[in-house]
Amino acid sequence: MSEKKVRVKNLVIGDKDIIVQSMTNTKTANIDATIAQILELEKAGCELVRCTVPDKESAFALKEIVKGVHIPVVADIHFSSDLALLAADNGAAKIRINPGNIGSLDKVKYLASYLKERNIPIRIGVNGGSLDKKFKHLNQVDGMVKSVLEHVHLLEDNNFDDIVISCKSSNVFNMIKAYRRIHELLPYPLHIGVTEAGTYTQGLIKNAIGIGGLLADGIGDTIRVSLTDTPIKEIYAAQNILKACNLYNKPYVEIVSCPTCGRTEINVQEYANKIEEYARTINKNIKIAVMGCIVNGIGESEGADFGVAGGKEKSVIFKDGKQLEIVKNDQILEKLKELVDNFNG
Ligand code: SF4
Repeated sequence: MSEKKVRVKNLVIGDKDIIVQSMTNTKTANIDATIAQILELEKAGCELVRCTVPDKESAFALKEIVKGVHIPVVADIHFSSDLALLAADNGAAKIRINPGNIGSLDKVKYLASYLKERNIPIRIGVNGGSLDKKFKHLNQVDGMVKSVLEHVHLLEDNNFDDIVISCKSSNVFNMIKAYRRIHELLPYPLHIGVTEAGTYTQGLIKNAIGIGGLLADGIGDTIRVSLTDTPIKEIYAAQNILKACNLYNKPYVEIVSCPTCGRTEINVQEYANKIEEYARTINKNIKIAVMGCIVNGIGESEGADFGVAGGKEKSVIFKDGKQLEIVKNDQILEKLKELVDNFNG
């Protein structure tokens, strides 16, 4: 939780719950495709979505986009206060812009008062890879922190404090250090992320360490997992990071599955993946175990509500650590799904 809270429509950033967000990768001006992707993201659990606004056409498109979706839309803008004003007029719930990069102080002043009147917050988004050249002589962490402070002071000097801050880097340690410093120095909510984190496999680890490490320290109010993959996977990954940090605030199904070994009798990987996929949208707190053998399976599936322990042709379905029934291996999945459906806590 941060000292200051920032309201974005129905959401409060900086409160107890960590807000999960992602960014569309459609052309924002393509209204139908953007709405379709946001609806898909909402279904997956996205709570706040950012769309890039590189031109007027995109800013105008926001008007229709916000009508077609249910979550607040953030306009991502670089350098242009005119586009920020246009996005605000067309329904953007928050603007991501760096006030130090939009030109004259008059422009900053006007933008700050315009957004303030409409209760539209600004996210200052400093990125280690695109630091202003006046900070280039510093090490990346010092440069990012100085840049954040400069943007923040510019807004504060113009009587604007509805601010969220991010200071991302593709270097995990640098982003961790920078966010820790910002957290010490400023009262504003933090949007946490590792930028240009890379492909799914590599990016997942960088995000988990960077975002998870900060969340474990109580730093961070909203997160975006950045992956070179579909935005839907970013949402699933963000949720998994929150679950691993005990910060996920909705009921969910947790799968525990053994790593497999020479004793393994069933296709643990397949069953675990399939039941995870099946249970992804089920809002119940259930722990399901998929274990490869009967010898150790039940004993090692500590705390599971129910699960399977694999046998050669038949496997044991167990509940609360005790055998429930024995099923043929081709019935395992069906049985687990039935138990999920009928589970009442
Ligand atoms: S549960 Fe059985 S199959 Fe799975 S890792 Fe343990 S001993 Fe091996």
